[in-house]
Amino acid sequence: MSFTLAIVGRPNVGKSTLFNRLVGKKLALVDDQPGVTRDLREGAARLGDLRFTVLDTAGLEDVTDDSLQGRMRRLTERAVDMADICLFLIDARAGVTATDRVFADILRKRADHVLLAANKSEGFAGEAGALEAYSLGLGEPLRLSAEHGEGMPELYEMLRPLA
Ligand code: GDP
Ligand code: MG
Repeated sequence: MSFTLAIVGRPNVGKSTLFNRLVGKKLALVDDQPGVTRDLREGAARLGDLRFTVLDTAGLEDVTDDSLQGRMRRLTERAVDMADICLFLIDARAGVTATDRVFADILRKRADHVLLAANKSEGFAGEAGALEAYSLGLGEPLRLSAEHGEGMPELYEMLRPLA
C-alpha cells in the first residue's frame, strides 16, 4: 500500500525544494523570482524504504494578495483532495505570517491528516519561528531543512505508519 503526500503552504516556504529532495530530480520549479507561473506537480517520492506519491502545490506570486490567495486556495484544495496526508510547511525564519494562518484554516477544514513542518530550520535562525508554529494548533512542528536535508529521518518516522 502506498499513499499520496501533498506539500502545501504559501509561496517561498520551500515546498519545491522539499519536493525535489523527495523525488530526487529537478521536476519542480524552484524559483526566487516573483511572477513565475507555477502549478500542481506530481512525482514519485522515495524516503528510505518508503515509496509514495508527492504533490507540489505552487502558486503565482501575483500583483495582488487577493489573486495570490485565491489561486493558492484553489490549488491547495485540489491537492488536499488528492492527498492522503498534507505536509504543511511554514518558513521558520519568517515565523508564522497572516497568509500561513489562511492556509492553516483551509487545512483544518478540509484535510483529514496534516503534518506541520517548520522549514529553513537549519542552524539557529529558525528557533523562534518553529516555536511560533505551535500557535497554528496543528500539533508539534517538525523541524526541517529541505535545502540541507535536515529532519528527513524525523519525516520518515512520521510517514512510516502510513505506508
Ligand atoms: P516554494 O515557493 O514554497 O516552492 O519554495 P522554493 O522551494 O521555491 O524555495 C524558496 C526559497 O527558499 C529558495 O530560495 C530556496 O532555496 C529557499 N529554501 C528552501 N528550503 C530551504 C531551507 O531549508 N533553508 C533555507 N535557508 N532556504 C531554503
Ligand atoms: Mg514552488
